[in-house]
Amino acid sequence: QWAAALARNPDMAGLQPSFAHDDAGFAAAIGEAELLITWTKVVHARFSQGGLKALAPKLRTIFCTSAGLDRLAPFAWLPDDVALLNNRGTHAAKAGEFGLMALLMLANHIPFFAQAQQRGEWAPRFGSVLAGRKLVVVGLGSLGGAVAERAAQFGMVVTGVRNTARPHPACRQVVAQDALDTVLPEAEFLVLACPLTPETTGLLDRRRLGLLPKGAKLVNIARGAVWDQDAVCDALESGHLDGAVTDVMVPEPMPPGHRLWSTPGMFVTPHMSADDPNTYNDNSLDILFQNLRLARQGQEMPNRVI
Ligand code: NAD
Repeated sequence: QWAAALARNPDMAGLQPSFAHDDAGFAAAIGEAELLITWTKVVHARFSQGGLKALAPKLRTIFCTSAGLDRLAPFAWLPDDVALLNNRGTHAAKAGEFGLMALLMLANHIPFFAQAQQRGEWAPRFGSVLAGRKLVVVGLGSLGGAVAERAAQFGMVVTGVRNTARPHPACRQVVAQDALDTVLPEAEFLVLACPLTPETTGLLDRRRLGLLPKGAKLVNIARGAVWDQDAVCDALESGHLDGAVTDVMVPEPMPPGHRLWSTPGMFVTPHMSADDPNTYNDNSLDILFQNLRLARQGQEMPNRVI
């Protein structure tokens, strides 16, 4: 699919695709490459220790088919004349639906019912509708924005937190990241959808969990290290939190016996919230071509990370 699309798309003008399937193929192709399309783990393995300039003197753009580039930071290995792009936007529709599903599951106590079912235990509790409930979304980019839109369609009162307090159509209010603590006491539901950076590592720590109202419900589709996993488990066990759905954890894959598997009210999915194999390639290709087109027109590439 990538080969055919790259060969026929006009935005690839002047660029002849070649495909590397192994180390030898990569070594043969990279010396002449102006654009590298690859996975984050390939970039990490090949370049994160430096040496990119010597290996690929003609390289001007790297397109990583991943939204989170946290493994590649710090970016000292990247020469100034090479643009690093992610595929931010590819995941929005799928992540938006997953986020909405997680909110509905939490409103209906499904994490608790799923665990009770394993024990063969009849444990009725009434749930609530989402309409009118207060949601805080931390990270209001393609993932968080999509969750916010769907939650607002279900009548939730959404507050967004992002780098700046720029308004968002799905949010009743948006605050800048340094005002996070001021909105946590209102968060009946909290969705984490920000990138993992030095600033967001451990963002939802024990102190901030204590700022949430009793009975708050959490969703994490960002990265496992954005929250303090043990503190979240403690808060579920104490009853301060009333359920959590997480798609991300430390480490991944999560080994047998890990505390998240068995904490009451914790529902785990194996890092698949944002990927739909039916649309992933098309979405990623559209994003790549749009960026190449804008670059040729002398404009900023919207997916440039650095
Ligand atoms: P994005 O760049 O479109 O949006 C990131 C948002 O986070 C922006 O609104 C930004 O302002 C905000 N932000 C940055 N630092 C913040 C901080 N300190 N506090 C609050 N907000 C902050 O990225 P995206 O495509 O929405 O993806 C977000 C992250 O989700 C990725 O970096 C990746 O780690 C993760 N992700 C997970 C999956 C999955 O399968 N679970 C899939 C894709 C991405």
